[in-house]
Amino acid sequence: MKSKHWMIRAGEPLENHPFILEAAEAIKKGETVAFPTETVYGLGANAFSDVAVNRIFTAKGRPSDNPLIIHIYDQLQMEELVAEIPDLARQLFNAFAPGPLTLVLKSNGRISRLATAGLESVGIRIPNHPVAIALLKSCGLPLAAPSANVSGKPSPTQAAHVLEDLDGRIAGVLDGGETGVGVESTVLDLTVSPPMILRPGGISREQIEEVIGKTAVDPALEQKAIHAPRSPGMKYTHYAPKAPLWLVEERSIEEMRARLLSEAINLREKGERVGIITTAEGEMIYRDHDDAKNPFVIKRCGHRENMNSVARELYHVLRSFDHTEVSIILSEVFPYSGIGAAIMNRLNKAAGGRRL
Ligand code: AMP
Ligand code: MG
Repeated sequence: MKSKHWMIRAGEPLENHPFILEAAEAIKKGETVAFPTETVYGLGANAFSDVAVNRIFTAKGRPSDNPLIIHIYDQLQMEELVAEIPDLARQLFNAFAPGPLTLVLKSNGRISRLATAGLESVGIRIPNHPVAIALLKSCGLPLAAPSANVSGKPSPTQAAHVLEDLDGRIAGVLDGGETGVGVESTVLDLTVSPPMILRPGGISREQIEEVIGKTAVDPALEQKAIHAPRSPGMKYTHYAPKAPLWLVEERSIEEMRARLLSEAINLREKGERVGIITTAEGEMIYRDHDDAKNPFVIKRCGHRENMNSVARELYHVLRSFDHTEVSIILSEVFPYSGIGAAIMNRLNKAAGGRRL
């Protein structure tokens, strides 16, 4: 059966919107519905129901040991889900909710054990998107919602990406246009002291530390780490386009581009169809060396001088190579500070550690 494509136009009133009501009914019946958040599109289901949550894992082909983030619309709903609410949680949600910050707290056991992958903790966030909030209010349930893509592929930042992956496997997608942040939420574990960042995301470590002081970072996130990650989902290959992706080692920007270009030319001479990920600032350097007989597929991922724009376009760029004939993709790299930590985490995973 085809999935519903519920188009919500910007500015339409959302209270009692017929498509929101229809989507909420599907959720209440235990079905799965994709919806926009400020980070990426999520695939939601009733977080209290094993049957409903299991449908998320089936639709995505997601490994069952990878827990789901629980989405709520109001801090008050946290009380239904957790054993206790530490002061730090309130401080952080007062500062960043609604927004791209997930807090891992001690669960009270009410959430489906499939959603928490059997852990004693639960990851919770309040998304900052009017359509997500309208859906959450309308169904009145906390929604377990991972990104709405087939496991392993880049996360969806448009409803079209969701349907590309999941058409026929979910009840429908609420289409609220392109998402804004473009990379997922930061996951912060508050069950340990000091709080530990398990996944870098839309709220930077620097921003969090301004509110609560020192944090730790899961050692598994450090480059070339050999530790098993504490956030179960972080160990899987993720975000990967079909063609192998290689990142250029960090150097000065000029050296990095020169290295990427010479590698791209070498590969082209060997008959490879080369894809290149750059930004508006670097595009012409590669275009100037293009060859009409075997052209580079050059994708511009935002502006390096505005790292938020790189985050916003990253998944679309990674995904768009699957509609081309490239046999290998080479990407520029970015500084690790601020949102750059999340961008580089996703690029490193998409590349599976491959470095030029
Ligand atoms: P996704 O839903 O695809 O954005 O992935 C959710 C991320 O949050 C994964 O990396 C999970 O491992 C992580 N996560 C969710 N709940 C927990 C939890 N209770 N403890 C640790 N990590 C969690
Ligand atoms: Mg995901």
